[in-house]
Amino acid sequence: MVQYLIRLDDLCPTNNLKKWERFFHLFDLYDIKPIIAVIPDNQDPKLNACGDFNPYYWPMVRHLQKKGYVIGMHGFEHRYQIRNSGLFKINNRSEFAGLPLYVQEQKVKAAVAIFKREGIQTPLFIAPAHTFDRNTIKALDKHSDVLIISDGLLHSPYIRFGFGWVPVQLSEAVSKTKDTWTFNYHPETCTDEVFERLEKFIAENHQHFVSLSQLTFKDYTLTDFAREYYRIYLRLLKTVVKDLLSRFGVYKLAR
Ligand SMILES: [Zn+2]
Repeated sequence: MVQYLIRLDDLCPTNNLKKWERFFHLFDLYDIKPIIAVIPDNQDPKLNACGDFNPYYWPMVRHLQKKGYVIGMHGFEHRYQIRNSGLFKINNRSEFAGLPLYVQEQKVKAAVAIFKREGIQTPLFIAPAHTFDRNTIKALDKHSDVLIISDGLLHSPYIRFGFGWVPVQLSEAVSKTKDTWTFNYHPETCTDEVFERLEKFIAENHQHFVSLSQLTFKDYTLTDFAREYYRIYLRLLKTVVKDLLSRFGVYKLAR
C-alpha cells in the first residue's frame, strides 16, 4: 500500500498569500490534511520580500491548525548562520547544525515560546534547508513538545534517537506503488505548471493521501542506517560530479 503526505514550506507573515491559497483550496477540496512548515519569527530577507506584511498571520495559522492541518515548527528565524550540511548533507547552510548546544537550545526555546504565546501546538520539527545535527535533537528533546522530525531519506517512517522521523524524499508528486512518500512544495516559488501537475495528481490519487496521525513508525535498523548513508553519499557524489563537469563546460552532459 502506498501513502502520500504533502508538506508546504515557509509560511511567514510576508507571504504572497495568493500562491498559498490555491494549495489550501486544492487540499480542502479533497479533504487532505497537509503539513505546513511555519516560521516562528522570520528574519530571512528573501521571504520578507515575497509580499506585504499580514497582520492576521497568527489567526491564519490558528485557523489552519483548527482545520486539521499539521503545523510544523520550521526552525526559529529561518536565517542561515553557518555553512554546515548537518545529518543529511543536502544543503551546506544551516540555522542550527554546527552551532554549540547552548545556542541551539536558545533558538529552540525562543521558537517554542512564540508558538506557545500564539496558541500553536506542534508535535513536529522541520529544519530550514534540511540541516540540523544531534545537538538540535538534544535541544528539541529538552525544551519542546516535538515528537516527530519531518526529514530523512528512507521510504517509511521510523524511530531514531527517541523521535519519530517522517522522511521527505521528493520535491514534487510522483506516482509510487508502495511505502510512504512526502512531497515537499514551496508555494512562493512553485510555478503554475508544477501546480497544475499537482492538481492532476491529487485528482487521480487523493485516496492515498494520509495525515501524520495515521502513520506507523518502525525501529531504525542497521540496514536502514546503511541504506540512508548510501543515499546521502550517492547524492553527494552526483553533486560533485555535476559540479566538476560544469567547470569543464560540459554541464549539459552532466544533467
Ligand atoms: Zn524553509
